[in-house]
Amino acid sequence: MQVSSTVFASRIQRFRLPRVCVAVVGEDATNIIDRAESLVRDNPFMEFRLDYLSNPAAGLPKLKHFLDLHPEATVIATCRRAVNGGKFKGGAAAQLDILTTAAATGFQLVDIELQSAEILKPAELAELKDRVGVILSFHDFKATKKLEDTFVEMKRYPADFYKVVSTATTLYDNVQMMKFLQAHSAQHEMVGLCMGEQGIISRVLGVRAGSVFTFGAATRGEETAPGQVTAGELRDTYRIEMVDAATQVYGVAGDPVSHSMSPIMMNAAFRRETVNAVFLALHAKSMKDLMACVPDIPIRGLSITMPYKQDIVAALSNSDALTKQVGACNTMVRSQDGKLYGFNTDVAGVVVPLEQRITLQGAKILVVGAGGVARAAVFGLKNKGAEVFIVNRTPEKGQALAKLTKAKYLKRADVAKMSFDVIINATPMGMGANRQSPLEEKELNTKFLFDLVYVPAETKLMKMARARNIQVIPGLEMFVQQGARQFEIWSGKPAPIAEMSFVVTKALERLGVGPVEEEPPAPKPQPRAEEKPAPKPPAKPVVKAAGKKAAKPAPGKSAKKVAKKPVKR
Ligand code: NAP
Repeated sequence: MQVSSTVFASRIQRFRLPRVCVAVVGEDATNIIDRAESLVRDNPFMEFRLDYLSNPAAGLPKLKHFLDLHPEATVIATCRRAVNGGKFKGGAAAQLDILTTAAATGFQLVDIELQSAEILKPAELAELKDRVGVILSFHDFKATKKLEDTFVEMKRYPADFYKVVSTATTLYDNVQMMKFLQAHSAQHEMVGLCMGEQGIISRVLGVRAGSVFTFGAATRGEETAPGQVTAGELRDTYRIEMVDAATQVYGVAGDPVSHSMSPIMMNAAFRRETVNAVFLALHAKSMKDLMACVPDIPIRGLSITMPYKQDIVAALSNSDALTKQVGACNTMVRSQDGKLYGFNTDVAGVVVPLEQRITLQGAKILVVGAGGVARAAVFGLKNKGAEVFIVNRTPEKGQALAKLTKAKYLKRADVAKMSFDVIINATPMGMGANRQSPLEEKELNTKFLFDLVYVPAETKLMKMARARNIQVIPGLEMFVQQGARQFEIWSGKPAPIAEMSFVVTKALERLGVGPVEEEPPAPKPQPRAEEKPAPKPPAKPVVKAAGKKAAKPAPGKSAKKVAKKPVKR
């Protein structure tokens, strides 16, 4: 049944539209329909990229069938011209023909670029707008600049929605975009966001600045613009449907941060504890850029990661004793009056998993590495009365840390001659694609091995330790514990540790770097009994684990066990 175009147009009420529109691409119409059929149940708002079809006009009759079958779906027809960043090779007139046919086919909205509107006659555009809801769009694939000038030009053409998409080259570009949206969203139906990895702020927070909706990819790998996240992530991780003026903004700031598991973990914690907050990955290429965004967004708290843990200290009004002692801050809080306060939760990240297993007072602990995390570990362990030894690739740096913290520096050659209660790997050896180990098997004379590397979940060092019956503490435990302390500082609520551990474990599994069971067994000859140095009996009785903390849902014993338990939601 042919429905008049005015009926379609009147259906496009901004408050009826979902906040996420899923871009659907396909090589041919059948392909688009297949994708749309699988998506429509969760995503009733879609954009069909007709310009991805070799012959868009020929594909429209097939697409009509989908639209007829799914009156619950709101679908945008986009046939972006190649000169404006799309794939359609035709001119503005041919584009208009396709969009006009799309309107007759049953699409409720069409997207047409400002550059095409400038070519077409006003009457042609007016006629299109009479038939269908029109999104007038402008894309800048290089920068975020002259937003106001562009909008002055756009307003010359009547449209139902004005869509401005720029590229973020700094974090502050997001602030520019959101200020722009705020300035115009009372008078016009606006859609705005920044592309690029740094544009995540505007993709999530743009809706509260006045963007009627935003765009998400159907799945990873089906992105139609740089920096696009999936619709599922926008809804499930960032809870975009509930982002409002009261939503507090937190994030992890560093360079790089794209690999960070913090958004997955912290957003899950906020959701679990019903805190109206969202946590974003902020790729800050400079401290100046980061600090400019803090008051304007505004940001309530930051997890600070490399390379800014030391630099941030100078920007703080005050900090906790550990930050002062270690000289590094990984947690920032912005108070109502705009002052910044610093905390160091890396220390808790190292100390808590160990205290759950042994008494640290008098324990003999070897820290491998003398960088930022080693520094937090050594200070934390010395504060607890442990006897700390340091070994490092660059002896001078290790010796300097030992002197500063009153620990003992060990020559590498002496490591194999000694035995410890705990060995901690605080180097990147074994991380990511690096399959190396910072120590050799013969040097692992210890009861516990705590590998702070958590991607992958199982490193070469951990495998070597397990083969020697050494108890392994995965780096995930540090990650979860430091994040748990951050959550408590920011929200004032106890952290949902089991949930945090669960979501990170699952995310690591999805990345293919999860727990060991899935990996093929290492073809490793078992050493003969006489060659295998028997692990020394513990120097200290393992008593602490029997305390109240041991009763907690294993934060890390962890990730594997927690992952198998159903989690209440
Ligand atoms: P960092 O400040 O750069 O220090 C790195 C340390 O590792 C330095 O002592 C360095 O020795 C040593 N090192 C680097 N490459 C080495 C190699 N090829 N062979 C031997 N030693 C090497 O880094 P960081 O911030 O302390 O972080 C260290 C690691 O901790 C990270 O890579 C990450 O895997 C892990 N980490 C885990 C968590 C968690 O939550 N689980 C949090 C943060 C970090 P030199 O002094 O000779 O350069």
